[in-house]
Amino acid sequence: MSLPILFDRWLEGAVPGAVTNESRASCLDCGMTDAACWSVPEPLATFHPSTKCCTYTPALRNYQIGAILADESPEMAFGRDTLRERLQAKAGVTPLGFSWLADYEARYDELEDEFGMHPDMRCPHYIEEGGLCGIWRHRNSVCSTWFCRHDDGHRSLAYWEKVRGLFEDIEHVLMWHTLQQMGIEGAHFDLLQDVDNPAINLNGERKITRAMRKKVWGHWIDHEEAFFLGCHDIVRNMTWEEMLAIAPGRLGRAAEAAQDALSDLYPARLPPILEPGDVHAMHRGKQEVWVRGYRGYDATPVDKETFRFLRRMGGMMIEDLQDQMTFALPHIEDIPGTLRTWVSRGIMRAGTIFGPDDGPE
Ligand code: SF4
Ligand code: SF4
Repeated sequence: MSLPILFDRWLEGAVPGAVTNESRASCLDCGMTDAACWSVPEPLATFHPSTKCCTYTPALRNYQIGAILADESPEMAFGRDTLRERLQAKAGVTPLGFSWLADYEARYDELEDEFGMHPDMRCPHYIEEGGLCGIWRHRNSVCSTWFCRHDDGHRSLAYWEKVRGLFEDIEHVLMWHTLQQMGIEGAHFDLLQDVDNPAINLNGERKITRAMRKKVWGHWIDHEEAFFLGCHDIVRNMTWEEMLAIAPGRLGRAAEAAQDALSDLYPARLPPILEPGDVHAMHRGKQEVWVRGYRGYDATPVDKETFRFLRRMGGMMIEDLQDQMTFALPHIEDIPGTLRTWVSRGIMRAGTIFGPDDGPE
């Protein structure tokens, strides 16, 4: 697992020492499609074997499309071909990049709770043989920052949300910057800023005519590939500092938020008072209960005695909690380590000394 080439360089500039990987999301051997891989019970490995988590068609920005077209390596051949198919379809293609088509967006919303389960929603760039991504080195902000499991649980999830925010801001800033540099201006530029204007609504809801496309492409019409390659040329050697100079406020704030989230990872101390987090049972096995914690994709198994303890407990000073665990759960050898894992996974959280039902009115 690694970040796309450009995001990797820019993140290192924006957030020195940034985390760039999640070791528990073993994508080449995806445990969400095959229960045996992660030794999880069948109901928790819910993604379809022919899609993994790739039931998502990525919106790509102009310079990202150019990066894929410019990458002539053999392993990118499928990615380039499928990208060209999207280009040739014309739907959802403007100088800003690729956007979602109306019918796809409606179905995506409809299936929100069944993410990863429907093969008809599979990404066009997904390589079925081997389950690989055809545009891996140039994938977008969403694909670069989504993981089913996280090394530091809810804190890692929060960190990746901030990194995704930073990447989305980078995409946005560069998309408009390259547009101007490539000479899309005047009425064409104004039209592209007006997202609700039916004249640029090339999302497949109605027949796309050449006249409609001309309105947004101007003199670049029929030279779309050259346009996207040009956008990539503008950004390919750009440093984080150069990019920051284009939009210092927006990018500076996003970088700071990601830096803060990075510094929150793996805290040295546990909170002084702990209370149960989400101890909902996702699955009950013969010996163990899988507890939801911070997200269902990353449920944690605990033995039944421990589950009952977690369900009964209220907020407690950490010293008292450790004493109670020593007495009630003598089979847990490393109590501080177990508590750190539970807090990271959202099974416990910083709390008050009141139980769930005996707090002040
Ligand atoms: S992030 Fe996706 S591909 Fe990777 S292990 Fe998780 S579900 Fe599988
Ligand atoms: S672009 Fe790659 S990572 Fe993203 S959904 Fe498609 S195949 Fe998966």
